Formats: sequence, C-alpha cells, structure tokens
Amino acid sequence: MKPAAFDYLVPQTVAGAVDALAAGAQVLAGGQSLLLEMHLQRAHPALVADINRVPGLDTLTVVDGTLTVGALVRHKTFESPGAVPGPLGDLFARAVGYIAHPPIRARGTMTGNLAWAHPASEWCALAVALDAVVELRSTRGTREIPAEDYFLGPFQTARDPDELLTAVRYPLLAPDTGVAFTEHRRTGFSFAQVAVGAALTVREGVITGARIGLANCADRPLRAHNAERTLIGSEPSQPVFTAAGEAAAERDAAPVPEPYADVDYRRHVVAVLVARTLREAAPV
Ligand SMILES: Cc1cc2nc3c(=O)[nH]c(=O)nc-3n(C[C@H](O)[C@H](O)[C@H](O)COP(=O)(O)OP(=O)(O)OC[C@H]3O[C@@H](n4cnc5c(N)ncnc54)[C@H](O)[C@@H]3O)c2cc1C
Repeated sequence: MKPAAFDYLVPQTVAGAVDALAAGAQVLAGGQSLLLEMHLQRAHPALVADINRVPGLDTLTVVDGTLTVGALVRHKTFESPGAVPGPLGDLFARAVGYIAHPPIRARGTMTGNLAWAHPASEWCALAVALDAVVELRSTRGTREIPAEDYFLGPFQTARDPDELLTAVRYPLLAPDTGVAFTEHRRTGFSFAQVAVGAALTVREGVITGARIGLANCADRPLRAHNAERTLIGSEPSQPVFTAAGEAAAERDAAPVPEPYADVDYRRHVVAVLVARTLREAAPV
C-alpha cells in the first residue's frame, strides 16, 4: 500500500523541529517504524518533520559519568566495541545484535525506538533497568523523565505529541560490573518473545548491585525489582540465580498471551532466561 498524502518538512534546527511539532507534525527519525506504519496505512500523519538534517543530534557524549545519546544516534553505533565506555558499552553491544537486521540497525535510532515504545524493544528494557532519563523538548521548554515513569503501555509513553525526544541519558556502570543480554524469539528476525538484560556487581564474593531489565514480559518494559532484591547480599551461585529467575517470572513479569506463547510458557521462559543471563553476567 502507499501512504496517505502528507506534507514534509525538513527543519534545520532543534527549535525548527519543535515548532513543527507544535504545528502538529510527527517526527521522522530512522523511519524504520513510522514509514512501515504509514505504508500499512495504520499511521496517517498530515505533516512529517524529518529531523535528519538537524545538526548536533547525532552525538554520543560522556560527561561526569553520564552517557548522553542524541536523537540521531543509530542502532549500529552501539555495535562498535568502545563506542560507549566500560560495561555499559559491553551491554549495549550484546543487546544491539538482537534488534532487527543490519539495514534497520543502520537507519533506526535508539531514541526513535524509545519514542515508539514497542513492549518487546531491547533498548526500552535496558533504559528502565539502567535508570535512564529521557529529555523532552517543546515550545514550553525542556523536561526530563526517568525511563521507569516514561513507559505507560504498548506504544504509549509520557511524551506529549508536541515534544521532541532530544536525548536519552544513562549513568555509566561501575568498571567491575558484569553484564549479559539474552533473548528468546521464534525466528532470527522476529521481535523477542522474552528478552533479558542484566548488570551485576560482585564485591568480595557478595552481590552488591543488580539490575535486570525485561522486554515483552508485560504491556511495557519492566525492571525486575523483586528478582533483584533476592540477589543483593547473596553469593553468586546457580540456586541464587534460579531463585531470582523464579521471582522475576512469578512476581515481576505480567505477560499477556500471544500467538505461539501462552502466559505459562512465557513465565517459564522468563525464569529460565533470567537465571541464564545472571549466570553469564557473573559466572559461578
Ligand atoms: C522488520 C523490523 C524488525 C524490527 N525488529 C526490532 C527488534 O527486534 N527490536 C526492536 O527494538 N525494534 C525493532 N524494530 C524497530 C526498529 O528498531 C526501529 O528503528 C525503531 O523502533 C524506531 O526507530 P526509528 O529511528 O526508525 O524511528 P521512526 O520510525 O522514525 O519513528 C518511530 C516513531 O517514533 C517517533 N519518533 C522518532 N524519533 C522521535 C524523537 N526524537 N522525538 C519524538 N518522536 C520521535 C516517530 O514520530 C514515530 O512515531 C524493527 C523494525 C522492523 C521494520
């Protein structure tokens, strides 16, 4: 199908983009979700603002232990070893290979992915687990929202329609943090049935820090707080990781049934994948 007719603007500045949004435009970033929706006639924006010519949005910066990812940083950037320092970069590099396939990773953006807010998104789950903050700009000013408050449901966020998601910020992970990312899906290019990202800090043989992000385990990305609580203060071991997996499956996840994967099956996958991801993050 062809998209319905629309007007097309190419703002040259963030202020111009924000003005376009105030006039009712929808942002075009990588176009990997928006254009598909328009072709399928499930999205009918009358005005599209293509932000790809706005300078300064394609940068990754690290200042005072915080990584800032601009709105035009493509998925593939995170495939490069060292693009982001330390364990955070390692975690992103492990996750990004699960996102779609190379042409989509070459154009799609991390912030476009957070704006789209698919419940199975790898970036959305990591944003919640890692205490990311999204920066939103409109003609009314700039505000920041913690990722855990930003995602409200499938394809629903706290972003107002006239707000441009200009950047997402992550605190860097401590150098002695172990990370892992695992995923279960039907085919190589399918969205995740369940995906799990984890960051574990073990000091003097005891788990002192735990972050677990879950994708497609509820109507929105989740941080597995109950599972994390079972880990803190314990020595890393297979029984401890198995118990954390069971806590994530029974007390954190709230899976909805999907074709090929009912709720019981998906809880089982959560338990297995969480335990496996933790074991990879902190080998025992
Ligand atoms: C075949 C296929 C497989 C895929 N597989 C996966 C997968 O496994 N995992 C995964 O996470 N994703 C997957 N995706 C989605 C892909 O990651 C997209 O790149 C991403 O969801 C959207 O990013 P984008 O930059 O292309 O945004 P666009 O398509 O340009 O925009 C998406 C939406 O977000 C809005 N938007 C974009 N940027 C901003 C901004 N800065 N401020 C405000 N609003 C904005 C747009 O207006 C639009 O509503 C897949 C897509 C396809 C087509």
